[in-house]
Amino acid sequence: MKKNINFHFLIISLFVLLIMMNIIWQSFAKQLITTSMEPFSYGEHDANPDTSEINGKKRVALTFDDGPHPVYTLKLLEGLKQRGVKATFFVIGLNVKEYPEVVKQMSDEGHIIGNHTYSHVQLSCISESKASEEISMTNALIEEYTGKKIQYIRPPYGSLPKSLQRETDLIPVLWTVDPRDWSVLNTDAVVKHILSRVKDGDIILLHDIFETSVDAALIIVDQLTKEGYEFVTVDELVH
Ligand SMILES: [Zn+2]
Repeated sequence: MKKNINFHFLIISLFVLLIMMNIIWQSFAKQLITTSMEPFSYGEHDANPDTSEINGKKRVALTFDDGPHPVYTLKLLEGLKQRGVKATFFVIGLNVKEYPEVVKQMSDEGHIIGNHTYSHVQLSCISESKASEEISMTNALIEEYTGKKIQYIRPPYGSLPKSLQRETDLIPVLWTVDPRDWSVLNTDAVVKHILSRVKDGDIILLHDIFETSVDAALIIVDQLTKEGYEFVTVDELVH
């Protein structure tokens, strides 16, 4: 009988010992896994592709010619404001005279305004005095409504005689991506053209007098922001 009790005691003791060893092993193994995972998890954080894209700072400028327009420019300004994006507008003097409050709003909201002549003329095809007048009249109008001095000009059709450039002291700003939005008048085609070509440092040409172009511009802002682009005004790209 005594032998039997000892045997039972031995079995129970062994069983308790096994349970205790199991508990100790589990807690040790858990500690081992946690310790070995820590460096891996830091490494993964460092290699996050989103972080490197944001630090990469690819820059692009959106520019809009021929406005302001009483409806579409306002729609664009609202969309840009919601997204915290600044753009550059090359306005026509005649339209500035017609819609001065839109030009004032552009300026107040932090966008850059440049000269696109008074009546959208090809400056190299008219007399120098007439060309000079086209520029100075537009400068005077913009400065009257915004209180800011004009520094940039985008000559219609990209042509600005050298003598005129020296005389006016304005910096000419051309473009590097032209989807011909005024011709295609199709939001998807404009978006596709720009997204397939855009790269760091590009100046995109659009016209805020067409709803299709305004819609395209806002889609482009959303997409390129996701791709790590930062939108800047032309003064940050042209020197
Ligand atoms: Zn134009």
